[in-house]
Amino acid sequence: MIKRRYTRTIKVGNVPIGSDAPVSVQSMTNTVTEDAASTVRQIKDLESYNCGIVRVAVNTPEAAESLKDIVRQVNVPIVADIHFDHRLALASLAAGVKGLRINPGNIGDKKKVKEVANACKDSGVPIRIGVNSGSLEKGALEKNGGDFAAAMVESGLKHIKLLEDESFYDIKISLKSTDVLTTVRGYELLAEKVDYPFHIGITEAGTAFSGAIKSGVGLGILLYKGLGDTLRVSLSDDPVMEVIAGYNILRDLGLRRGGVQLISCPTCGRAEVDIVNMAREFERVSARIKSDIKVAIMGCVVNGPGESMHADVGIAGGRGKSVLFSKGKIIGKYDKKEILQALINEVENITGEKINLSQLKNKKLKIRS
Ligand code: SF4
Repeated sequence: MIKRRYTRTIKVGNVPIGSDAPVSVQSMTNTVTEDAASTVRQIKDLESYNCGIVRVAVNTPEAAESLKDIVRQVNVPIVADIHFDHRLALASLAAGVKGLRINPGNIGDKKKVKEVANACKDSGVPIRIGVNSGSLEKGALEKNGGDFAAAMVESGLKHIKLLEDESFYDIKISLKSTDVLTTVRGYELLAEKVDYPFHIGITEAGTAFSGAIKSGVGLGILLYKGLGDTLRVSLSDDPVMEVIAGYNILRDLGLRRGGVQLISCPTCGRAEVDIVNMAREFERVSARIKSDIKVAIMGCVVNGPGESMHADVGIAGGRGKSVLFSKGKIIGKYDKKEILQALINEVENITGEKINLSQLKNKKLKIRS
């Protein structure tokens, strides 16, 4: 059982962050923010995968202007990601964002920090301080003897102090490095010093494959230690993949219920059906399912029947026909071309939720007539 660290609780729109609130999953758009239509389309896609919070880069006055259109058309709380220019923060607040990511130490004099803090107070919007090992202020690393974790903590504390000087405490903080153990140590050190909630992530983690592994390791360690109140899995891929990866990490740690838990075999010379593609495609199309369901996709009769029987729905590949199980019982036998569709039908049947097959990449498997 994981014991979460005690923190203050803040709210990004309707999403509570901290202490006993469920660890929320967030992502960031990779569209050009000035292009409101594309950005809204991507945010809606993220919403359909239950993304809790979406961050949007605001790097120009036009992007801040576009936010008005974006915020109006989506339901998920939007966080504006801003570097240096406090006017963009003020414009984003006026556009209706529910969170800011801005480092007060980077926006110039105290007057500007006060202006942003006061505007946030007026609109009940929290600020995330985001310290990144790649952009530490000059001299921070040398001062800490080359220790990135200590340097990130020192930097984070400085930014926090600037907001606290304005009596602003509606704060969450992230300390991200590309290195897993540096990131973990940074959060451990910071947890001894502040009670603000943590946004956790491994920055620039990599592709959907290597990045999900790195994030799974790093975020897994942090969450297991109770450190982490909201997370982003940062991937060089479709932002939807970040959300799917984030929920998988939480579910595997018992920090989230709901969604599909997929058991699929690695295949071997005995496999009677194309497990690799079937599992991949099923994972993609079923990622929007909200119900708590265990699905097994197994290649043959060696381990297939056992795993399928213990899942809610499962298939065991067989010569000629494959067997479909539901709640421990055989409910049908299907040939190779029909088995994925039969599995999908049964998952829909049990959950009462519709699976959108337009997500299928391998059209050969798109067999619904
Ligand atoms: S279930 Fe069958 S096909 Fe899959 S890995 Fe095991 S033995 Fe091989």
